[in-house]
Amino acid sequence: MADSVTQKPTRTPLIAGNWKMNLDHLQAIAFVQKLAWTLKDAQHDFGSVEVAVFPPFTDLRSVQTLVNADDLPLAFGGQDISQHDSGAYTGEVSGAFLAALDTAYVLIGHSERRQYHGETDEIVAAKTAAAHRHDIVPIICIGETAEDLEAHGPAAVPVAQLRAALEGAATGKEIVVAYEPVWAIGSGQAATSEQAQQVCAALRALLVEVLGADAAAATRILYGGSVKSGNIAGFMRETDVDGALVGGASLQLEEFASIVRYQKHVGT
Ligand code: PEP
Repeated sequence: MADSVTQKPTRTPLIAGNWKMNLDHLQAIAFVQKLAWTLKDAQHDFGSVEVAVFPPFTDLRSVQTLVNADDLPLAFGGQDISQHDSGAYTGEVSGAFLAALDTAYVLIGHSERRQYHGETDEIVAAKTAAAHRHDIVPIICIGETAEDLEAHGPAAVPVAQLRAALEGAATGKEIVVAYEPVWAIGSGQAATSEQAQQVCAALRALLVEVLGADAAAATRILYGGSVKSGNIAGFMRETDVDGALVGGASLQLEEFASIVRYQKHVGT
């Protein structure tokens, strides 16, 4: 375990809220306004932590308008992207459309996409390539199921998933990695910070091998899976954990704001 989060000065921590299929565009406007106010009101130093929200597609234009009009220090992203740029792909959303809304990030390969929509490692690589074609930073989600953990140990499956996804990454373009053990997502049973660090260190070693030492050192690796205000500080103390992808708790305003202000809990 690292002594302090100040050992990671070169990587800006990222706290990302995945709203999944929750909040319509009116609810999104109210939520983002309150979130920005809550964080400002508490004199949170936005400069030290990047905050991003991932609303449903139908909310993105409203969130963009609000963030741009009020110059809110919040990033936003899509929850998915098509591997294609245009054409006869009913229901898909092009990276070109996301980029036109100033979308900074996009989640790719979330376990719910893999589980319910048959997303394979090949599709995840193609979507990573699509994000980079449109200068959107892909947040590549990977993680093992409980069965994978039992059969292969903690790091083998996430490392293999990341290796496959990196096939689609463009040289020199930013990626973010989100390590989310599937057994920890929505279960209330988070990994321990030591478990998260063990896998994130293995992921960084792979990044060194594939992207080189400098790019690996600059790449943020997030932990996701039942992150709460009570456990975030432990994760953020770890050397290779640079932030969190938060699901359920990102919909609870005070709780999410408290996660963003994790430095307050460091040392507790
Ligand atoms: C997620 O869906 O990415 C996630 C981490 O969910 P939760 O925080 O609810 O476990």
